[in-house]
Amino acid sequence: MKQAADAIVIGGGASGMMAAIVAARNGTSVRILERMQRVGKKLLATGNGRCNLSNQRVSIEDYHGTSPKFAAQVLHQFDCVQTMKFFEELGIAWRIEDHGRVFPLSDQASSVLDVLRFELDRLGVPVECETIIQKVVRDDDGLSCLSSEGLAFKAHKVIVATGGKSAPNLGSNGGGFRIAQALGHHIVEPHPALVPVTLDCPALKHINGVKVIADAQALVDGVPQGREVGEVLFTEYGVSGSPILALSRIISESLLKGSESSIQLDLFPEMSFDELLSFLRNRFSVASEKSVSFSFVGLVHKRLISLILKEAEIQNAECSCSKIGESDISRIAKALKGLKFRCSGTLSWMYSQVTAGGVDVREVDRRTLESKVVPGVYFAGEVLDVDGNSGGYNLQWAWSSGYVAGFHASHSL
Ligand SMILES: Cc1cc2nc3c(=O)[nH]c(=O)nc-3n(C[C@H](O)[C@H](O)[C@H](O)COP(=O)(O)OP(=O)(O)OC[C@H]3O[C@@H](n4cnc5c(N)ncnc54)[C@H](O)[C@@H]3O)c2cc1C
Repeated sequence: MKQAADAIVIGGGASGMMAAIVAARNGTSVRILERMQRVGKKLLATGNGRCNLSNQRVSIEDYHGTSPKFAAQVLHQFDCVQTMKFFEELGIAWRIEDHGRVFPLSDQASSVLDVLRFELDRLGVPVECETIIQKVVRDDDGLSCLSSEGLAFKAHKVIVATGGKSAPNLGSNGGGFRIAQALGHHIVEPHPALVPVTLDCPALKHINGVKVIADAQALVDGVPQGREVGEVLFTEYGVSGSPILALSRIISESLLKGSESSIQLDLFPEMSFDELLSFLRNRFSVASEKSVSFSFVGLVHKRLISLILKEAEIQNAECSCSKIGESDISRIAKALKGLKFRCSGTLSWMYSQVTAGGVDVREVDRRTLESKVVPGVYFAGEVLDVDGNSGGYNLQWAWSSGYVAGFHASHSL
């Protein structure tokens, strides 16, 4: 048995470090147990190494999960303004970029981790790395965290801040879900979000590397479920880019439910269908000496032309533009405004930035983040069934929930 602490935080990621700092500042003796060789490995990878640590425009619409109200109450207790004040006091100067995204002025995720580690040291919080917790059990005199090496770490309060299943190479491998399940909690089936999407499309080999600015729609069983505008990148397996990552949650959830899903791209979002029709009519009439296929050169990426003409069912792409009829033009316009790809899945957890699903929030007190199943156990961060859009929302959830769990765990001792 290891020396007892008032509180133990399982997982030294964003939410766990925040929880430990808040608890220690409240005078609680707290220790962090971390399975990797060091804390905060994922934090270093955030924002392409720049750490998009919050978003000034946080609103509940940017969060997903079974209960938006649950997330709202937690975010409200420690919001973006309080978060940025917290980091400012630790030495992080920051700036706001497009869409309200907050970054450290240093442009280094490592500086965010450095100040958190400095504060943990200053507060004397012991951090035990390479310690994998497999189970939490309640006994007569409190809670015990049992490690894979057979050690028992005793505490009155335990904060489970183990993350979800995304990017397991950075530490979070779903272990927190197993801990919660063994305690009697239900898990909303996890699925990857903010992840590239795989397509069922033989032409991918040909269009791998092509980038387009498009209005992308996710369709589930043919019904539009979400749309995002931005740069879409075709890859050898499917599609990536910010609009696709944003839509990927819908796709992976629909596949989990056994529904058909597809991505539809409007390559001319700035024109209405009728405007595009008259634009194409004019283009074909002035290019009457060119082939239909060649008339697209300079209009769309060359490697997309045959795919578009196939989608538009143009049998002879090499025929002259003078031969093209009104119904052909209409089908071409439809293909350009609705290039459709059937989704076969998403890339694996390794490539996903965040986990949708997790510990069922109906079994967690939304004011304190204490378990309603096992008193004394708290949850923080991505292990809970809350996930956010891209843009700093997920780290804000980690900071807010870490704060709330750390505050209430230490105040109820
Ligand atoms: C590549 C990438 C880029 C991202 N960029 C951004 C961004 O710029 N902005 C943003 O808002 N979000 C971003 N995210 C998402 C964000 O990083 C996460 O939502 C956030 O880190 C979750 O914090 P957490 O504390 O819940 O979990 P994590 O940060 O995953 O930390 C969990 C910790 O628990 C440890 N652990 C797990 N199981 C055990 C166990 N059994 N015993 C002991 N320790 C355990 C893990 O090793 C890990 O250190 C990004 C994610 C990725 C993968």
